[in-house]
Amino acid sequence: MTRIPSWPAQLRFRSLKLRIAVVYAALFAAILAAVLLLAGNGIARFGEDSASRDLAANARVFDEIIELRAQQMRGSADVLSRDFGFREAVATGDEPTIESALVSLRERSRSDAAFVVGLDGVMIGSAEAALPPVAELWDALEGGQEHGIIRIGDKLALAAASPIEVPDTIGWLVLAQPLDAAEMQRLSKLAAVDIDARVLRARQLPTGLKSASLGKVVESGDSERVLHHVTALPALQQGLRPRLVLDHSLSKALGEYSGLQWLLAALAAAGLTLVIILSWRVARTITRPLSALDTATRLLGEGKDAKVEVTSDDELGRLGASFNAMVAAIEERERQITHVALHDGLTNLPNRKLFVEQLDQALARRRGDAQLMIVYVDLDDFKVVNDTLGHPAGDALLRNVAAHLQSVLGEAIVARLGGDEFAILLGDLPANENLAALADKLQGCFGRPIMIDGQQADASASMGIAVAPGDGVDGTTLMKNADLALYRAKRDGKATYHFFEQSLDEQARHRRQMELDLRLAIRDGGFELYFQPLYSMHEERLKAFEALIRWPHAEAGMISPVDFIPLAEETGLIVQIGEWVIREACRQAASWPDDLSVAVNISPKQFQCPNLATIVLSALASSGLPAHRLELEITESIFISNLEKTLEALHSLRALGVRIALDDFGTGYSSLSYLRSFPFDKLKIDQSFVRDLTLDGNANAMIRAITTLADALGMETLAEGVEDEAQAAILRQEGCHQIQGYLLSKPIDARAVHVFIAAMADEADGQRRRA
Ligand code: C2E
Ligand code: MG
Ligand code: MG
Repeated sequence: MTRIPSWPAQLRFRSLKLRIAVVYAALFAAILAAVLLLAGNGIARFGEDSASRDLAANARVFDEIIELRAQQMRGSADVLSRDFGFREAVATGDEPTIESALVSLRERSRSDAAFVVGLDGVMIGSAEAALPPVAELWDALEGGQEHGIIRIGDKLALAAASPIEVPDTIGWLVLAQPLDAAEMQRLSKLAAVDIDARVLRARQLPTGLKSASLGKVVESGDSERVLHHVTALPALQQGLRPRLVLDHSLSKALGEYSGLQWLLAALAAAGLTLVIILSWRVARTITRPLSALDTATRLLGEGKDAKVEVTSDDELGRLGASFNAMVAAIEERERQITHVALHDGLTNLPNRKLFVEQLDQALARRRGDAQLMIVYVDLDDFKVVNDTLGHPAGDALLRNVAAHLQSVLGEAIVARLGGDEFAILLGDLPANENLAALADKLQGCFGRPIMIDGQQADASASMGIAVAPGDGVDGTTLMKNADLALYRAKRDGKATYHFFEQSLDEQARHRRQMELDLRLAIRDGGFELYFQPLYSMHEERLKAFEALIRWPHAEAGMISPVDFIPLAEETGLIVQIGEWVIREACRQAASWPDDLSVAVNISPKQFQCPNLATIVLSALASSGLPAHRLELEITESIFISNLEKTLEALHSLRALGVRIALDDFGTGYSSLSYLRSFPFDKLKIDQSFVRDLTLDGNANAMIRAITTLADALGMETLAEGVEDEAQAAILRQEGCHQIQGYLLSKPIDARAVHVFIAAMADEADGQRRRA
């Protein structure tokens, strides 16, 4: 099973489209953010570097500016120091002249201070503040240093000196300009970048700059970032250690780049918006075929038509094509399954389920007084074909019949309901249609001999017919009625049809009630056995009694076996009833004299039961009746199904020591052929032959033929239904051994049997005595 990777709850989307779009947009946003961050950093670094470079470059410029200013001051000083009058005044110590010359020099050179340092250590000059000590200056000037920083009052000033020579140096004319804020600002304007310049003594430097190495750029400040550059300036006074401090605002310098950064951010925002739109579109392009598949799959699940449109030949297109192929395969398989579910596998005809549907549809379509005919068909003796020619032959017969019906009936619907039962539906019959003629025509479809594996098989059929609307307007009723009509047709004999009549319904209801009563009788032991004597004309004595079942019914009185044995056969109840008969007959017979036997009727259904021999054996054992005193009466109909099995069963019964009689001999159509197959102990000639005896010479000849044949085969003969002496006389004359019939006695109950036996014994005694 594939596990879907789990997303954090807040990122779990129900829509794949949204997920793809969000993932792509988020990815792009992350990359964009990283690029922005790097670019921002790069720009900041670049800004810092260039600000630092600018400051360093301007520091050199500033040095030159100060140098230039010093030279300019020196130039002004030189003009005066070379002046003859001035030199003379200095040489002579003419202070007023010197003073006035110095004042005009100050004004000319826009310097704040001008003074003369004399050889004798005298300082003459004009200045508003205290001038530095002469000795210190002199040492520096004598050392060859002609300009530098001095202190005037509490200010630092730039000073330039020019020697006063006559020709020997007799003093120095010094011009000085305090480097106060105003002056520094003036000088700063000469620099290319925005710089704040200050001149401080080393010890006056701010703490952060005290340790900074000279000539290097350092940074300080939090709220405003500032770059500093500190250089040493030459001093004309000892211990002064003047420093030129240049400040350059980094924040301001970087501020120039903020436009660029905003531009970048704006571009990023535009890019992100574009990416979101594109991601959404891409996601939609990818997921559109997927959601079409999703919808189609849901429709398929709901059993609706589900095809997707294939618009590309990429993976999604191929997926769509495969889906369509899968849907087609499923539809085909469904069609096959439906076909299998609604058709009979052997004949490919519609099965019962489909027939019911088609019947319902036909009924719904029926208009006006149009009629609809439903025919139930059951092949006669299909079981014989199956048993004698084998199941493959049976299948071939069914297929043959199905194909023939379809080809002959054209428009009609033909279905196989199961086994050898078919149903035919003829719709849209006009009200005046000759239904009997139609039924005859249908009957004509059957009964033609069919060759299977070189053998001829008979495929005649019985048909039950119900017609709508007369016999019902709904499918269930019509099918039930056609079935009832078929049941009736079967009972009427083979190869016939029967139309449904209301009385059939009555009979069916009666049958159902009787079946219920039969079950109750079995449960409550509601049957009785009557016995009818079998007399040997040959030995002139009572030979046996035939056990004949009776059903005393609370409402219907005594019910004849002719009325309920067929139903017991149909429902299979005969097996239980028959077992009771065998046990009861043996029990009764055991109480009779030893030379009397009991004959028990065994029905075909009972005969097919595999444990018949066991039941017989058990009945004999529990009653103590010797096997040879039990006679089983079977009819020819047991030979209709599987002959070999029947013979095997007969032999195994015979092996128990019981006798086997063939009942109702002569009523079947091939009775004689069975005689060759199995050595019966007795033939019971059917009463129909006996009834005709006196009237018809043919019947007499028939009896003679049977007795002659039986004698030849070593079988006893018994004539049933002997009612008068004349019949008995003919039978004796024609060589029949035994008789049974009202002439001797009607069937009597068990108690009457004992009376009958005693009476017979008395009569025999009487006869003996008379003889
Ligand atoms: P079946 O075995 O041929 O029995 C003879 C039938 O002929 C009996 O009818 C009997 O009463 C009747 N019968 C005897 N003598 C005369 C006569 O002189 N004139 C006329 N008209 N009839 C005579 P029943 O008892 O009604 O039985 C009818 C059939 O029911 C039996 O024919 C037999 O096939 C079947 N049957 C009766 N009892 C049993 C039974 O316990 N088991 C089975 N499987 N079938 C039974
Ligand atoms: Mg019988
Ligand atoms: Mg009989």
